[in-house]
Amino acid sequence: MNKNLINKFKENLGGIIKYKSISTDKAYKQEMKKTVEALETLFKRNGFKTQVLKGKTTNPYVYAGLNIDKNKKTILIYGHYDEMPVGDTNKWVGDPFKLTEKNGRLYGRGVIDNKGQFLIHFTAVTELAKNNNLKYNVKFLLEGNEETGNTEIAEVIRVNRKLLSCDFVLISDGETTANRPTIEAGFRGGSNVTLGFKTAKGDVHSGLYGGAIPNAAHELSILISKFYDKNNKVAILGFYEGLDKPTKSELLNNKSLKFSSLKLKELTGIKSLKCEKGIDFFTQTGLRPMLTVSGMKSGYTDEGYNNIVPCYAEAKINFRFAASQDPRKILSDFKKFVMRNKPSYVSCEINVSSSWPALKMATKTKLVENIKKILEEVYKEKVAFRFVGGSIPVIGFFKSILKTQVVSIPLANEDCNMHGTNENFKLKLVEKALEFSTSFFAR
Ligand SMILES: [Zn+2]
Repeated sequence: MNKNLINKFKENLGGIIKYKSISTDKAYKQEMKKTVEALETLFKRNGFKTQVLKGKTTNPYVYAGLNIDKNKKTILIYGHYDEMPVGDTNKWVGDPFKLTEKNGRLYGRGVIDNKGQFLIHFTAVTELAKNNNLKYNVKFLLEGNEETGNTEIAEVIRVNRKLLSCDFVLISDGETTANRPTIEAGFRGGSNVTLGFKTAKGDVHSGLYGGAIPNAAHELSILISKFYDKNNKVAILGFYEGLDKPTKSELLNNKSLKFSSLKLKELTGIKSLKCEKGIDFFTQTGLRPMLTVSGMKSGYTDEGYNNIVPCYAEAKINFRFAASQDPRKILSDFKKFVMRNKPSYVSCEINVSSSWPALKMATKTKLVENIKKILEEVYKEKVAFRFVGGSIPVIGFFKSILKTQVVSIPLANEDCNMHGTNENFKLKLVEKALEFSTSFFAR
């Protein structure tokens, strides 16, 4: 592997991860601006024409284009420069905003989610261009609100569809599967719901009233305990309606990914899996719908005790939908379920955020065949087609607005710890990723 290319990548990455572009916290607004400026400078220095597109309420979008020959095909690379908070900095191997190399890994916030991944392609493309070996026109679109759920991105793509026009879109975000190069075959849809239960005007003394009046925390817990039946199937009427039954080849493909429950236990610290009966891990997370409580609050949770009966309890609930399901229908079934199962003395409020449907990607095209060939040459392993449990909603917008094919090739290691402490990119995979990107853009 070309040492110079790896060093170039480290230099590019170190120069961008030093900016604290944490979009989930307003305190970093200024840092977002600095990140955008740094990206613009980096692109310009390497011959790209840039434009900063303004959102109404969102952080700016960085557009950069390198036009080498109008007879050549154009690839749009999408990525995001925003990131999650870093948590306790003492738990990191080094300063999370300074690229740290240790034990064969690069550490820092954003090294894989997502600065490191779009910079792999940037580094490969710019080095090829310098030597006149680049075979495509290349465009980048980098947004700053991926982590907050960007509600304006569809509009930005629509308004700028001429600028963004391309032969296909390439996305590298997320992790490879079972140490194999990976092409993503589909994504689940999703939605978020806040469910609030109220049982009284205010909290009251638990000694004077406890046991005699309703408790919001208890009532909400009772409802939540009814979400799943004993076979780990969601017990909400209509929840599995409309979904695509996995095909034989999809099931075979998922089995071929050779899931290791031992590895998963090591990675996550769980003691046991909880799939539906007879359903493998990849089918469960990629092709089955689910809901999960992602947060709860009620009563007093600080130091010591406050002996009250809480009058209010709240749960955040995350939904994931499978292909062909109608999110609105399921959310309306969920509301009916709550109303049917809550006692009459509980008043409840249900707030639904935006929702997005599941997506299946085209995997039988010439383009995917070509990418698969290069990936297998470089990684010397068979490509895994992965149905991803999460979502990249922007893929749907590229497909519908730009009317173009989207290919999603994650490049990170499975133990990259994205969103957590010690986010890292294994150097071995950095090499493979650079080699793949270089081969791809040079043919
Ligand atoms: Zn992320």
